[in-house]
Amino acid sequence: DFDHILEALVNTSVNLDSLRPYSVLDKKWIEKVLTLSGMKFKWTKVHEERERANRDAHPRPPADPSLLVSRPPVVTIMGHVDHGKTTLLDSLRKSQIVSTEAGGITQHIGAFRVQLPTGEKITFLDTPGHAAFSSMRARGANSTDIVILVVAADDGVMNQTVESIQHAKRAKVPIIVAVNKCDKPKADPERVKRELLAHDVVCEDFGGDIQAINISALKGDNLLGLAEATVALAELMELKADPTGPVEGLIIESRTDKGKGPVTTAIIQRGVLKRGCVLVAGKSWAKVRFLYDENGQVVKEAEPSTPIQVVGWKDTPSVGKTILEVESEQRAREVVEWRSYQEEQQKLVEEQSAIELKQKLHQEEYQQSREGLTHLNWRERRKIFRSRTKSIVRVSEKTQSKELSLPVIIKGDVNGSVETLLNILDTYDAQQECQLEVVHFGIGDVSENDVNMAKTFGASIYGFNVAAGRHIQQLAAKSGVTLHLHAVIYKLMEQLKDELSSKLPPVI
Ligand code: GDP
Repeated sequence: DFDHILEALVNTSVNLDSLRPYSVLDKKWIEKVLTLSGMKFKWTKVHEERERANRDAHPRPPADPSLLVSRPPVVTIMGHVDHGKTTLLDSLRKSQIVSTEAGGITQHIGAFRVQLPTGEKITFLDTPGHAAFSSMRARGANSTDIVILVVAADDGVMNQTVESIQHAKRAKVPIIVAVNKCDKPKADPERVKRELLAHDVVCEDFGGDIQAINISALKGDNLLGLAEATVALAELMELKADPTGPVEGLIIESRTDKGKGPVTTAIIQRGVLKRGCVLVAGKSWAKVRFLYDENGQVVKEAEPSTPIQVVGWKDTPSVGKTILEVESEQRAREVVEWRSYQEEQQKLVEEQSAIELKQKLHQEEYQQSREGLTHLNWRERRKIFRSRTKSIVRVSEKTQSKELSLPVIIKGDVNGSVETLLNILDTYDAQQECQLEVVHFGIGDVSENDVNMAKTFGASIYGFNVAAGRHIQQLAAKSGVTLHLHAVIYKLMEQLKDELSSKLPPVI
């Protein structure tokens, strides 16, 4: 490839378009080599373009602190099943205390905002439970600033409560405890807080810094208190974002709408998203046609921490993917192509290394099966093989069948198949009067050594899923050794039976 490019650089008659865009080597590296070799060179415009096509879209470096502005917290609700996560989300969505701007019926787009009477906003991700949270985390995306841990006051800390705590701690996301179902007569909020101590969640009552708010999600009691606690924690965290420059965000929901085509909900993390922006996410890209808020209203723009429904994707990007704004549709296509290419390459590398690993294991097994025995002489080996293989035929005392034996060599493709064959032979009761004798077994294709051993013992070679090279076949033919190679076990066994029968004296 490098030769090709060198040629392209030095000799302009080479058609640069014949080069795949991503085959261009690192520009700095080429410059260095060319400079060192004293060559004169000039980058062509085509090369500049190709060089650009070779780059993925990347998030920008951290912003200048002076550009940062406060942003609302993004909150995920977690907790044990039936402790009231869905109910809490529903009542927050409908709540009169914390009203949404349009006051309309909010739609499920994956997230919604509530606004406190004092003006502060909170964004709630409305997929309860930690499934969504951890799938985001697994992709390295941090979608959440604060976890609201719902614990039913009549039930206390349960195993999924503990799991939620662990998830939040691992992600280093602070917790607010919502002690739910406080309307119930059996409610015991104190017990909840005490039980949480055992999991290093120390609430304020116990001298810790974790806020615990008693609520009733069902009755809508003290939702304002919970919202205020959230805002207070967010203020302490000094959550900020850079509202300038290209947009960055995260896909939290993605589906295909009959009318609108692929539709996603994104949480904006940087910049201000507007109609006409060109975005890439994973291997999809969009020219933003419409933006909708959680009330189904068309909006002009979305700032950091805003959940926004984006229409205009060419296909459906997956949840958890980072959104990046790029300068043009052309650039978006390049990035998508580049990513697809990278993925293909990655797949090839993985497939290749899987094959190599298999081969290596194969070889190691083979080596082990040989090494374990090479220090023994053939008589000792034979003893071991014999002990492995019981007589598969009841030896008739009358016929003095010790004379009637069929020596065989067993070869298989993997340790498992050899093992299986030996086991079948062990238990196989052919009700014949001939003794099967395994003089050698091993893994791998039939080798010269196998043929020589077969010749020495007068054995036949039975191979399962293994091959014998041309010169091995010739050697076997010359040595009078029969090769039976099979890919199906029962066929191999049939043949073995036939050979055993052929050894028996004719029935009188
Ligand atoms: P999730 O599995 O955590 O989403 O729990 P749900 O929101 O589905 O609630 C489970 C059950 O508890 C439902 O029958 C709710 O009506 C009930 N529930 C939720 N919150 C409260 C509450 O504050 N008080 C009472 N009494 N019941 C509640």
